[in-house]
Amino acid sequence: MVRNKRYKCIVCGRMFPEGQGIVLQRGGVTLTFHSKACAVKFFRLMVETIDEGEFKKVARSLVKEFEEALKRREKRKQI
Ligand SMILES: [Zn+2]
Repeated sequence: MVRNKRYKCIVCGRMFPEGQGIVLQRGGVTLTFHSKACAVKFFRLMVETIDEGEFKKVARSLVKEFEEALKRREKRKQI
């Protein structure tokens, strides 16, 4: 068991303990952010850099997903 695991924010270099900040893992890549502000900075740049076709596909499908979740929540409120 690894105790007191610490991560380094990839945006500003600050160290932070496990359980704090934002840690995302996918496809063997680990993204570590000590704060939401650093994550937003990274993802804003990613949105601007990523292949446009791929971005459109993913963004549209996610927007739809959130819209549907909002609709479901509004319906529940009316009952
Ligand atoms: Zn940071």
